[in-house]
Amino acid sequence: MPVRVLPDFLVNQIAAGEVVENPASVVKELVENALDAGADQIVIDVVDGGRTSITVVDNGRGMNREDLAKSVMRHATSKLPDDDLTNITYMGFRGEALPSIASVSDMTIDTYCAGEPNGWQLNATTGEIKPSNWDGGTRIRVQNLFARTPARLKFLRGDRAEIMSVLDVVKRLAMARRDVGFVLNNKWFFPKNQDLLERMAAVMGDDIMGRMLEVSADSGSTELSLTGFISEPTLRRASSVDQFLFVNGRPIKDKVVVGALRAAYMDVMHAREFPLCALFLSINPHNVDVNVSPAKTEVHFLEPSHVRAFIIKTLRSRLAETMNLVARVDMVQSVVPHQMNLTSSVSDNIRNCAPHVMHVCAPKDDYKFDKRHGPENVASVAPVAPVVSVDDVFNDMPLGRAIGQIGDKYILAEKDNNLIIVDQHAAHERITYERVRTHAIKVQPLLTPIVVNMRAEDVVAVGQVANELKLSGLVLDAFGDDAIAIFEKPADWDLNWGDLLHDIADEVRENGHSVQLNEKLHLKLANWACHHSVRAGQKLDLNQMNALLRDIENTTRGGQCNHGRPVYKIIPISDLDIIFERS
Ligand code: ADP
Ligand code: MG
Repeated sequence: MPVRVLPDFLVNQIAAGEVVENPASVVKELVENALDAGADQIVIDVVDGGRTSITVVDNGRGMNREDLAKSVMRHATSKLPDDDLTNITYMGFRGEALPSIASVSDMTIDTYCAGEPNGWQLNATTGEIKPSNWDGGTRIRVQNLFARTPARLKFLRGDRAEIMSVLDVVKRLAMARRDVGFVLNNKWFFPKNQDLLERMAAVMGDDIMGRMLEVSADSGSTELSLTGFISEPTLRRASSVDQFLFVNGRPIKDKVVVGALRAAYMDVMHAREFPLCALFLSINPHNVDVNVSPAKTEVHFLEPSHVRAFIIKTLRSRLAETMNLVARVDMVQSVVPHQMNLTSSVSDNIRNCAPHVMHVCAPKDDYKFDKRHGPENVASVAPVAPVVSVDDVFNDMPLGRAIGQIGDKYILAEKDNNLIIVDQHAAHERITYERVRTHAIKVQPLLTPIVVNMRAEDVVAVGQVANELKLSGLVLDAFGDDAIAIFEKPADWDLNWGDLLHDIADEVRENGHSVQLNEKLHLKLANWACHHSVRAGQKLDLNQMNALLRDIENTTRGGQCNHGRPVYKIIPISDLDIIFERS
């Protein structure tokens, strides 16, 4: 067969296969164009999940007749004036979206640009342009999407699923551009000029109020910084819908960043649950390539492991900082307006007295409810107040003085007129887990190495992370071209090593790193801690209760159990007053 250059309409349809996957990707391209045109108000209407029509109206600068004609030509763009692909300041730059969309739909554009005698209308199917009375911004209407490519039409999901994907796209762009107003189907409104927290509440829901932790860090230079908000571990979703990630202002769904977020929460959230976040990573544009996929949701970092480590470190320290100190009060939420910061005064008190608590309660090797933890002992070693009464000493501590137990399940404590309720099982689980976790991993050398047969490329992949695996107690090496030999493993730990190594290989090939072993280790520790902890239903005396309170105070991330449930709640007396209608 002779070689032939494909006709334009086919080239465009092929490109559309990459750029125009579904109605949501059409909306994404059109809204990005509107943003690039300087619009600050964008109205989107999607009919029948996008099958019948998708309309995007903006108040941007519009196009003159000449630009309108060129806009639907392949690789025609106004956004790369100096041919520099490393310095991309617009959301689009490929000049592919409009011709691709036009090749798989019936598209019309109405636009008006200052200086033109009138507006113009383009019929992208015929190429015909005629004057119109359109008088501001641009309207692009895409009808009968995929009608000419029935194979693609078949892959569209139900209307509801498609509109949810559109909503997701709009939310991501709305989060990136809080200076712009967005309206979808006259039902979802994201007004312009909201601050980040307001926008997050509009996008993620009001339940986030008072439960997001602010993050702001840089790597010690202007090369890399991270700002935004992450959720307390008690606030989580069943999917990643409310994870909003941005690199240099662009919404992305990048494996490196998503993986780092997950790793940061590993100790406090189940792997099947997802924290909420709006995180903005700024990185020197020369260290990142955004020109990777046509849909542009992935990026290439020049040094992915550096970026990953920076994100994990920043988020973990932010989580650790808060979790010992602040517990939230859901109980009285219904009677207290959102705006009231229920725990700020309490957490401030806690913060102020935290340092000297460290002297009073030395970490213990083994958790036993014995006299060592009793009030006499604490009072006698307290360097700050040797002559005050036992009650006063406890009152200086973040979680105060135990006053009783209810249902053999919850410990009640009092501190500066605040009521503190502690879930005794969750508390002890957290303490046990942290204690086991910080123990060095015991490694067991194997007399006979375990040999796992693998494909050569898997052997190479596992080899890439051999040093990391060693840190988790797994020592291995290639055994010929298509097998791996394990020489040492974490002691008392038996797993299906073949499965684990294959999982690790898959992960390394996909993400360049592996969290499998760490995650499995984490799960194992969490289960162990759970089974070796004080149960709900166990009666405790006051000494035991006070001992438990002191141990929580000394535990990293003591505010949540390993599964992310809260360990304790603080209820200020002012909230009790509200409940009893005294205020
Ligand atoms: P790209 O956005 O990559 O440049 P597109 O195919 O999406 O490519 O758009 C082609 C050109 O059409 C853009 O560069 C821009 O000049 C113009 N254009 C598209 N949409 C709009 C709009 N809503 N308002 C003004 N100009 C637009
Ligand atoms: Mg574009």
